[in-house]
Amino acid sequence: MYEYRDVKLKIVEGDITKMEVDAIVNAANNTLLGGGGVDGAIHRAGGPSILEQCKKIGGCPTGEARITTAGNLPSKYVIHTVGPIYRDGSKGEAQLLYNAYYNSLKLAKEYKLQSVAFPSISTGAYRYPKEEAAEIAIKAVLDFIDKEGGIEEVYFVLFSNDNYLIYKDLLDKKFN
Ligand code: ADP
Repeated sequence: MYEYRDVKLKIVEGDITKMEVDAIVNAANNTLLGGGGVDGAIHRAGGPSILEQCKKIGGCPTGEARITTAGNLPSKYVIHTVGPIYRDGSKGEAQLLYNAYYNSLKLAKEYKLQSVAFPSISTGAYRYPKEEAAEIAIKAVLDFIDKEGGIEEVYFVLFSNDNYLIYKDLLDKKFN
């Protein structure tokens, strides 16, 4: 566990659909109509009510975020955000990935949510290099805490041990 300006930051290795938090974040695609990876896992575990709400929302631009309730999941809400597809790093990917984290937290704050869990957005099918993606994720969260506050706990939920260790290394360097 790490702490930054009274906000608890936690890293967890595992499945984000199991997280008992106010909101889990989904690494969705622009249609919001479901996909593979963490998106597929969230819709499978959460049931059809999430997809029904997503259909009504009608899509989401890259870097923005939208919110639904969480169906059968133990969290209260799902914040759907869309990270960039990684091409070569020169297509604005870093800013878009940063925006995905930042705008997810903005939405959480609007809904007065205290605890939010993020997956490693864009590092699966969208092929963002994991180390760079982790640095951006952490920077966006710390910047949000500096500028906006209003959140108590942020979890980074990593599906693989190598990604967990990338986050652990970066956070240990920053905070220990
Ligand atoms: P993207 O299209 O944004 O790359 P993916 O879902 O393909 O989204 O991958 C994003 C990250 O989510 C990857 O690091 C992948 O290992 C991870 N992931 C896949 N399933 C889960 C899950 N159930 N819980 C947490 N993370 C997951």
